[in-house]
Amino acid sequence: MVTSRLTGAARLLLGMLPVCVLFIGCSSGTGMPSVTSIAVAGPGSGDETDWQAISDSEWKQRLTTEQYHVAREHGTERPFRNEYWNNKNDGIYECVGCGLPLFHSKHKYKSGTGWPSFWQPSEDGHVAETSDYKLLVPRTEVSCTRCSAHLGHVFNDGPKPTGQRYCINSASLNFRDSREMKAAKQTNSSSDVTSPVVTVTAHSPDNHLRPFALVELFTSEGCSSCPPADRVLAALHQADAPDAPIYCLGFHVDYWDRLGWTDRFASKDFAARQHAYANTFEFNRVYTPQMVVNGQQEFVGSDRRKAADAVQTALQLSPEFAIDLHVTSASDQAVDVQFTLPKQSVQSNRVLNLAAVQATASTDVARGENSGRTLSHVNSVIALQSTQPSVDGAAHLKLPEGFAASQVIAWVQDTQSGQVLAATHADVVN
Ligand SMILES: [Zn+2]
Repeated sequence: MVTSRLTGAARLLLGMLPVCVLFIGCSSGTGMPSVTSIAVAGPGSGDETDWQAISDSEWKQRLTTEQYHVAREHGTERPFRNEYWNNKNDGIYECVGCGLPLFHSKHKYKSGTGWPSFWQPSEDGHVAETSDYKLLVPRTEVSCTRCSAHLGHVFNDGPKPTGQRYCINSASLNFRDSREMKAAKQTNSSSDVTSPVVTVTAHSPDNHLRPFALVELFTSEGCSSCPPADRVLAALHQADAPDAPIYCLGFHVDYWDRLGWTDRFASKDFAARQHAYANTFEFNRVYTPQMVVNGQQEFVGSDRRKAADAVQTALQLSPEFAIDLHVTSASDQAVDVQFTLPKQSVQSNRVLNLAAVQATASTDVARGENSGRTLSHVNSVIALQSTQPSVDGAAHLKLPEGFAASQVIAWVQDTQSGQVLAATHADVVN
C-alpha cells in the first residue's frame, strides 16, 4: 500500500467544499473495502448522517486544525484575524461541520469586536444555546444543533430588533455567497457547460513524448454537490490541446442511485474503481464529487483551483513511453481497438485501461437531490476494460444500448501506486 503525499491536504478539503460521502469499512482479503453504512452530506441532500456519532479522529480528518480547535474543542479564534469578521457579501453562513444553514448576511452587523456578529440566527432550531461558566461570569454558548459544533456565544448587547449579539467564530462557518449560488443555479438550469474557464499552460516537450493530464471525475446525477464538478471537467476538456492533452473521464458511480434517481451512466464497476483509489489513498470513505489526476492527486471535484493546479503539475512531466492506439471498427454496439506498447513498458505490475466515452450528454433529472435540474456531462465513460499490457494487442469494447462512443481513451497505470504512466486517445468515427 502506498500512501499518497496529498492525503492530508485532500482530507482537509473534505470539510470545506460540499461533498457526498459514502463511508466504507476496511475489508480483509479481497483488497476491496466493504460498504458498512451510507451517509450523505451536502446542501439540499437528504441527510442520513449520524452527526453525533462522528468520532474525534474523524473530525480531525474532516476539519483543519483551526476549525477542529474552535468547533470541537470550544476554542476561540483571534479577533480581526479571521475570515468573515469583515465579510459584507450577501449569502448564507453554514456550519463548518455539517453544512447546516446557521446565519444569513442580512442579520450580520458591524459590532466592532473583530468576530462576525449577527442579531439572530437564520433559522429556528439550528442554533442551540447553553450556559457556559468557563469565564467568571456566566455566558451563553451557541452551538450547531445538528453536529454540536461550537460556534461562539450570544450576549444581550446587540442591536434592535432582538437586542442579541451572536458572536461567532469564522472557523465554525462556511460562507456561501448568494451570487455564486445564483450563478450555479443558472448554469445548472441551462445545458451550458462552457461557462467556467480553467486556464492551463503547457510545458513545451523536447520530444514526441508529450506530457499529459488524465482527469477522472467520480460523479453522480443523484448528488447535488456534483454539477459544479461536472462543469470543472467540462472546462478542463475545453482546455485540451494537441500539445498539452487533457484526457477527461466522467465516471458515474452507482451508490447514490438509492437516493431516488437512477443515473443512466452509472456502473458498479466505476464505483469499484473509486473504491480501489480509496484503498490507494488510504481513505475510509469514498465521496462525490472526487477528481483524480494522473492517479496521484485527488481532491473535491468542484475545486477549480485544485483542478487547474493538478493538471498544470501533470503537464510538466514527460512520460517515459507512449501508447499507440487505433480504432479498427466501430458500430452502435461495440468499438474495436488495436494498441501497441514499447517492450520495456510491459510489466506485470501495470494495467492497461481502455475507456469508451460519450462526448456530451444532457439529462433532465426528475427525482432525487437534483430534481428539476438539467445536467450536462462531457466524456462520460460508457465502457471500461482493464487488461494486462502487452506489446501488441486488441480489445473489443461492448457498448450499452442507447449510448454513442466518441473516443477511446487508453492509459497505463501502476497497480500499486495508481500512477498513470502513459495515456492517449483515438477518435471513434462510425
Ligand atoms: Zn453542524
